[in-house]
Amino acid sequence: MKYRWPLFWGLMLLISVTASCQTEKSRKDNQAMEQEMGKGEFLTWGEVMRYARKGSPPPDRRVEKSDAEWRSLLTEEEYRITRQKGTERAFTGAYCESFVPGRYACRCCGTELFDAEEKFESGTGWPSFTQPLTNNVVKYEMDKSFGMVRVEILCNVCDAHLGHVFPDGPGLGGLRFCTNSASLRRIETGTNESN
Ligand SMILES: [Zn+2]
Repeated sequence: MKYRWPLFWGLMLLISVTASCQTEKSRKDNQAMEQEMGKGEFLTWGEVMRYARKGSPPPDRRVEKSDAEWRSLLTEEEYRITRQKGTERAFTGAYCESFVPGRYACRCCGTELFDAEEKFESGTGWPSFTQPLTNNVVKYEMDKSFGMVRVEILCNVCDAHLGHVFPDGPGLGGLRFCTNSASLRRIETGTNESN
């Protein structure tokens, strides 16, 4: 009798955890881990989908230029990828296998988008990150081209095409931001914050 009740409540807990919504559970796990690590907020797939469907958070500023202006400022390859939603060939980009410290800014407008600390080796041949620098530097849009449903990522300041985001990343948020090197420019941050 003495050991029966703990066993009963243990079983009940197991049943309730198993029965609970998996997404809600992982979200709570993530929140708990986040508090444990003292980290700031991080983006999850649920939030990415909400942004893609209902609109991303407003950016701090906007940069808008004419098509001719962008053409004059970018190389042909950069223009094709950032302004015409192109994709560079896998394993050909400058930052594909680079893991030096720094930040990655938008090639078009210079807005800082990703920190090198969030960069990881995805094996895809494109620079991959687990999180953006802040929640409002990247814009999320549903992309139904090529018979697939994907979430396109763009610079939220100037609408440059960056790549796509997928829910199979290794970080706490479980995200993989798959970008083109041609959409980014790495900037040295040194020991002090540059901004
Ligand atoms: Zn930009």
